[in-house]
Amino acid sequence: MTDNIKLIGKDGLRLDGRKADELRPIKIQAGVLDNADGSAYLEWGNNKVLVAVYGPREAQPKYLQNPAKAIVQVTYNMAAFSSDERVRPGPNRRATEISKITAEALENVILTNQFPRASIDVYIEVIEADAGTRCAGLTAASVAVADAGIPMMNMVSSCAAGKIDGQIVLDLGKKEDNFGQADLPIGLVARTGEIVLLQMDGHLTQDEFKTALKMAMEACKHIHGLQQEALRSRYAVNFADMDDGEAEQ
Ligand code: ADP
Repeated sequence: MTDNIKLIGKDGLRLDGRKADELRPIKIQAGVLDNADGSAYLEWGNNKVLVAVYGPREAQPKYLQNPAKAIVQVTYNMAAFSSDERVRPGPNRRATEISKITAEALENVILTNQFPRASIDVYIEVIEADAGTRCAGLTAASVAVADAGIPMMNMVSSCAAGKIDGQIVLDLGKKEDNFGQADLPIGLVARTGEIVLLQMDGHLTQDEFKTALKMAMEACKHIHGLQQEALRSRYAVNFADMDDGEAEQ
């Protein structure tokens, strides 16, 4: 993170025309893959993320099994074509880190103790990346887990706030992420206010941290509404199909 280019104009707007507390547009669709137990597709600004969930199914290899609860295994992957920079295919330290923190966030809400020895496998494929993919991945993964019918207390909603040109802003874009001063991605259980993911890159004062955290939490509550809406429309469509079928008989 460096601060050598101007990211906020004289009009107070950011490079893409957003206000400080404005999210990029977000679209979420649940149940997009037939072969997965649950799935979701999410567009968040220029980010495009596809998530497939399998399970609960017997954990393999067997030594991974926990006799008391299911394990949650997340594989985050950036497609080789997801960025204009070259993305080296295959696992790397960053992907391993994002997979781990996403699994830990989801373990907080999934009722894993109902499925001893099982595994819940979550595959996050980033098709296009434009900063904020861990938040996009976790948000979509929560919808896909719910779509799989896996019992969970609540969904996790995720969003980042950060600092650019000395100002706290919501949901950093790629240039803001590259040339800003701080990035604070969080995962929130909107209904309880519990934070299940918090990372920070860069520097913030205590007051700035509080402001950024509050901004990201507010945004997570809004995103939670979009996640619920995605599930509602998926199942509303299915119910409508069933009604049609029954009507025809
Ligand atoms: P996040 O995507 O959660 O913001 P980072 O802060 O690590 O995670 O990355 C910011 C952005 O930088 C990514 O969204 C992506 O656009 C780009 N990026 C990260 N890693 C790579 C990579 N290996 N190759 C190309 N672009 C990358």
